Amino acid sequence: MALATPFAPQQFTDVKQRKHLAILGSTGSIGTQTLDVVSEYPDHLYPSVLTAHSNVALLIQQARRFKPRKVVIARADLYSTLKEALAGEPIEVACGAKAIAEAAAAPDIDMVVTAMVGYSGLEPTISAIRAGKKIALANKETLVVAGELITGLVKEHKSELIPVDSEHSAIFQCLTGESLEAVERLILTASGGPFRTLSKDKLHHVTREDALRHPNWNMGAKVTIDSASMMNKGFEMIEAHWLFNIPPDNIEVVVHPQSIVHSMVAYKDGSVKAQLGLTDMRLPIRYAVNYPERLPSKCQKLKVCDFANLTFESPDYDKFPLLGMAFDAIRRGGNIPCALNAANEIAVAAFLAEKIGFMEMPELVAETIARCPYVPSASYDDLVSTNAEMRRVAEELIK
Ligand code: NDP
Ligand code: MG
Repeated sequence: MALATPFAPQQFTDVKQRKHLAILGSTGSIGTQTLDVVSEYPDHLYPSVLTAHSNVALLIQQARRFKPRKVVIARADLYSTLKEALAGEPIEVACGAKAIAEAAAAPDIDMVVTAMVGYSGLEPTISAIRAGKKIALANKETLVVAGELITGLVKEHKSELIPVDSEHSAIFQCLTGESLEAVERLILTASGGPFRTLSKDKLHHVTREDALRHPNWNMGAKVTIDSASMMNKGFEMIEAHWLFNIPPDNIEVVVHPQSIVHSMVAYKDGSVKAQLGLTDMRLPIRYAVNYPERLPSKCQKLKVCDFANLTFESPDYDKFPLLGMAFDAIRRGGNIPCALNAANEIAVAAFLAEKIGFMEMPELVAETIARCPYVPSASYDDLVSTNAEMRRVAEELIK
């Protein structure tokens, strides 16, 4: 069999021929790394829309460098600063959550990268799906909150979800060319976070700074805390359930402290496929934004001999109760995963503000969910009110 000649990416000098991206949350960890990837493929990718919440200085800097068609800042009070700074540029400027949702659905956009954090990603993601856009999905909370609704809308509007989360990108790649019928289970790897080897007693005394020190990944504050509590892996199990239509009981979480095997798929014939890579989010981002092509990169490459010891162990559900709560929530379904997410967002914010301790986060989440009126098949409006109500309940419980 003859090997294909090395792939030479096609050069597009005309901006119209490049893939137009809307990067929602361009100033965050995923957003800035997406722009790194855009810089690798200037003839292929064009960041047509950039959005942020409050980091107006970085948004201005990005706009001057990447010349997007439009920038949007969520906070209306920062609109004039942004507008004045970009006065000399041919760039549209807007503000507010509605404007972000509209920008995600603009006719020129080919793909929307959802790199916003938390519940704020839901509305613009729905708007983009309704407009039939391809979604490079980083904002896992969208699927936690509204997985059933989102996957239904994706089918209805012929949209597509391409995972950015490294584990889901790994599974997506392992599933390529396979039938879902042949899958026995998904094996989701977890680093175990900074507290993997700490006793449960010691977990009561860890600080905000301890929790923000992730051993393998440099990420935004919210997802870093979720990784330390293993809520992140619980959310990723729910994300995998909706993305790949695999029941939660067929998703196994395995702690793999080196974070080199990004996840695996076990097939019914006994074979297991894994995807490996260095701990660099630009790898799954590169795959998602170039999908279905796999373009060459000058990035640092994995040398397997540098990793002689890859280890795997079962997670400790007693030390990390939020992981088990995620399984309970998705088994109950309806609005319960939405309540889990709302309570967790309040818990993480309170922990970061040093109002509650690390082990008070699972307590707060459990108590909040216990007060959630169960809605079995939740509409969008049910989810919006569950989110608002459960945030209020969690805030009350903190007081
Ligand atoms: P960051 O906190 O670093 O960035 C969040 C981005 O969203 C920023 O651009 C921020 O703007 C913007 N933003 C925050 N709140 C709002 C809001 N209410 N309205 C509009 N924009 C908002 O987060 P990460 O990049 O770490 O994470 C983004 C998503 O990707 C999360 O869902 C996370 O779970 C997921 N993810 C992240 C990984 C990582 O390595 N970081 C890995 C896998 C998944 P501003 O800067 O102005 O505040
Ligand atoms: Mg992940």
